[in-house]
Amino acid sequence: MIHTQILIIGQGLAGSLLAWELWKHGVDFRVMDPGLPDTASKAAAGMFHPLVARKIRQTDRFDLLFPALKNTYLELETQLENKFLFETPTARLILPQTMPEWKKAMQNELKDHILQIIPAGGFPGLNPGKAVVLTTNSGFVEVPGLVYALSRWFRGKGLLIEQKLNYSKISLHAGSVRVGDKLSTECIVFCEGPGALNNPWFKEYGISANKGEVLEILAPELEEQYILRDEVFILPLDQGRFRVGANYSQQSLDNEPTKQGLQELKEKLNRMLKVTYDVVDHWAGVRPVSKDRIPILGFHPLHPQLAIFNGLGSRGVIQAPYWASQMRKLLTEDSFVLPKEVLVDRFFNTL
Ligand SMILES: Cc1cc2nc3c(=O)[nH]c(=O)nc-3n(C[C@H](O)[C@H](O)[C@H](O)COP(=O)(O)OP(=O)(O)OC[C@H]3O[C@@H](n4cnc5c(N)ncnc54)[C@H](O)[C@@H]3O)c2cc1C
Repeated sequence: MIHTQILIIGQGLAGSLLAWELWKHGVDFRVMDPGLPDTASKAAAGMFHPLVARKIRQTDRFDLLFPALKNTYLELETQLENKFLFETPTARLILPQTMPEWKKAMQNELKDHILQIIPAGGFPGLNPGKAVVLTTNSGFVEVPGLVYALSRWFRGKGLLIEQKLNYSKISLHAGSVRVGDKLSTECIVFCEGPGALNNPWFKEYGISANKGEVLEILAPELEEQYILRDEVFILPLDQGRFRVGANYSQQSLDNEPTKQGLQELKEKLNRMLKVTYDVVDHWAGVRPVSKDRIPILGFHPLHPQLAIFNGLGSRGVIQAPYWASQMRKLLTEDSFVLPKEVLVDRFFNTL
């Protein structure tokens, strides 16, 4: 019988970063994951940005999320001897009539993020008609590469159990949980992403999902210095390649790229770009979202041996590092309290 203090179910971005936090703090744990390719983290485009989409406003808790993002991905680069974090400024397209509002924000609440505001027609490669706000503190993370690299690293340390959890094998006891007859733990933390929709203890707790599709394009005439962001984002990779994403759909929550998805992304791209491009790749994935678009953390209100870390939504890259560190504290520090807005209990009260 293997006994471990904490068993993490799922090694996507949520489970990976929680495991990393536990490892750094010397906590005994295992991660269980079947290693399948069709997960949100393995489909993610990886972009992060300091501002809320379509709003002249900073992301909530940015001052906590951003330092955690930088520290965590840089630590992992050092530990895994690989590059995952790419800091790239963003050229955000705006309606020219909103320029005065942006200029005001540039002098006040967004002064740490906005570098410059460029009137319509002044930015290369774009259709005329929109002005551009250049922002800093943005970029992208190679999420699939990071998750695969961590998977190899956990395997090398004997911390990865490469199988899918069969929920019917779980039996709850006072202060412990057994999984079949070979594994026991003090606490299970469920990080199954959209897989939580099958979780008998948490499926009613605010978890939802939506599908996203991403393209890779070749656009040799397009500037590689900035992420472009309007109806879609266009991330510069290298040698004229760009990643374009992502759309949102509630239909057929599977990993199949669709003709409609391709058409929608191309129409949005065509409205942005005046340079030509070729689509060279197209894929899809399913995001784990919460019903109020805020991550879901905490212990099950009736079974304190079970916990959840999920609902990272479309902004997992910036949310996961900070909330993984908070989840680690919740699991290992007696007096630690999470903010009410993220607690899973908020959905319990509505059942
Ligand atoms: C197309 C697309 C584009 C995206 N682009 C961005 C972006 O640009 N920027 C950004 O910040 N975010 C983006 N995201 C969102 C981001 O990918 C997610 O927020 C994040 O990856 C979620 O991680 P997760 O670990 O919660 O879920 P997942 O990555 O799905 O991981 C869950 C893991 O749990 C495992 N699992 C499930 N059930 C079981 C079980 N019973 N037993 C054992 N293991 C189990 C799965 O195999 C999986 O490995 C995108 C998502 C998609 C789909």
